[in-house]
Amino acid sequence: MNQPFQLYNTLFKQKELFEPIVPGRVGLYVCGPTVYGEPHLGHARPAITFDILFRYLTHIDYKVRYVRNITDVGHLENDADEGEDKIAKKARLEQLEPMEVAQFYIDSYHHAMDKLNVLRPSIEPRASGHIIEQIEVIEQILDKGYAYISNGSVYFDVPKYNIDFGYGKLSGRILEEMISNTRELDGQDEKRHPADFALWKKAAPEHIMQWRSPWSDGFPGWHIECTAMSTKYLGDHFDIHGGGMDLLFPHHESEVCQATVVHGKESVKYWMHNNMITINGQKMGKSLGNFITLNQFFIGSHPMLERAYLPMTIRYFILQAHYRGTVDFSNDALIAAEKGLQKLYAAEKLLDKLPAKEKSDENITACIQRCYDAMNDDLNTPKLIAELFDAVRIINSVKENHISLTKEDIELLKTNFRLFFFDILGLLPEENSANNNEIVDGLMKMIVEIRQEAKLNKNWAVADAIRNHLTVLGITIKDTKEGAVWEM
Ligand code: ZN
Repeated sequence: MNQPFQLYNTLFKQKELFEPIVPGRVGLYVCGPTVYGEPHLGHARPAITFDILFRYLTHIDYKVRYVRNITDVGHLENDADEGEDKIAKKARLEQLEPMEVAQFYIDSYHHAMDKLNVLRPSIEPRASGHIIEQIEVIEQILDKGYAYISNGSVYFDVPKYNIDFGYGKLSGRILEEMISNTRELDGQDEKRHPADFALWKKAAPEHIMQWRSPWSDGFPGWHIECTAMSTKYLGDHFDIHGGGMDLLFPHHESEVCQATVVHGKESVKYWMHNNMITINGQKMGKSLGNFITLNQFFIGSHPMLERAYLPMTIRYFILQAHYRGTVDFSNDALIAAEKGLQKLYAAEKLLDKLPAKEKSDENITACIQRCYDAMNDDLNTPKLIAELFDAVRIINSVKENHISLTKEDIELLKTNFRLFFFDILGLLPEENSANNNEIVDGLMKMIVEIRQEAKLNKNWAVADAIRNHLTVLGITIKDTKEGAVWEM
């Protein structure tokens, strides 16, 4: 039941009809999280986008091997191959073994993604578990002459690659223009050219994550892991590579360079990139104070949140936009999303109670085809949701006896409404926890306010007692400059 599915290929900047390399099978690689912090709203978007792709391709009868990696080494603070490794830094600050940090945030990522009903990939490889494969790929790039060793580190030779293959295919960056935009190399620099990127970095003795290699005791560069792991699990030519638009440069552009050298050709047939989430029109950032973790959304514990939001509201809110468009978060937008979702839930509950008649006033088969058409058009989830609302109109009209449907059409409507709503959009049936969440949220707001009041009145005994009682329940209150926040 393969459908004529079209997707936008970032490589050629156009929509293309999806034709798998091997009939009936799809190799899908998606860049997963770098695990050094709590998962936030920004993590939810790529996860949900490629979850929809995975679900839909599976539904239209492809056998999908979905690989989503975990970056637990090599992602430095600065994209120019400088600064500390993000995970090593966190481990140093918290006096933990780096893999303790990675495991902790992998667990919280999984926990949040499970709540959002994001399906687990078929394979979830970790960069730190593939050091040997990464060293092998670096050796191949060196053998082919597109990398050089400098003071124990190995760098990719971008100018040489540019002459032979043409640099910037994916991001449209032009090497000559990049030079004027980057700082001059100083005499100390190990790189021959500012656009060159690290394949292997020699570790300083105090660096806590390092492995033996032919060049030095060190660690792999950030981009090499995806080339090594996609080749290992999907081969040297695979169907779809996905990720957030923020990864397009330098991460994916560097992957294109590495794979082209190693395999002698492009290894990815279709590149897909999801757009970003802004918060009240602003980019998300720790320094802007608008960095909201998913858990904070679920319990409503960030000062910018008016209340808690159910995971399905967040999922639906993201799906209301096309994945290539921007999503702007605000409390109003989330509350509106919640209302929309409630209408869909209400209509779904009526499906089992519709009266069957002799004839049909609506063409249900055509409605269903429009749902497929929306998904076949580059995963147009907002269009699909609009079609589901058209179905809501039909359901309500049948219920009110304004129009009639035959038994067969009611069955079709029931099966397909649930198919698109639950299985393809991945929205879980309504949870009863909604009310509980709201009650907890309301109670916590009240408790925080009473404690603030007590502090203002210098009633430290009451303020401390509230904090201690909450600690026993596993709830912590933190005083921030935006006010008190609580965490469970
Ligand atoms: Zn990647």
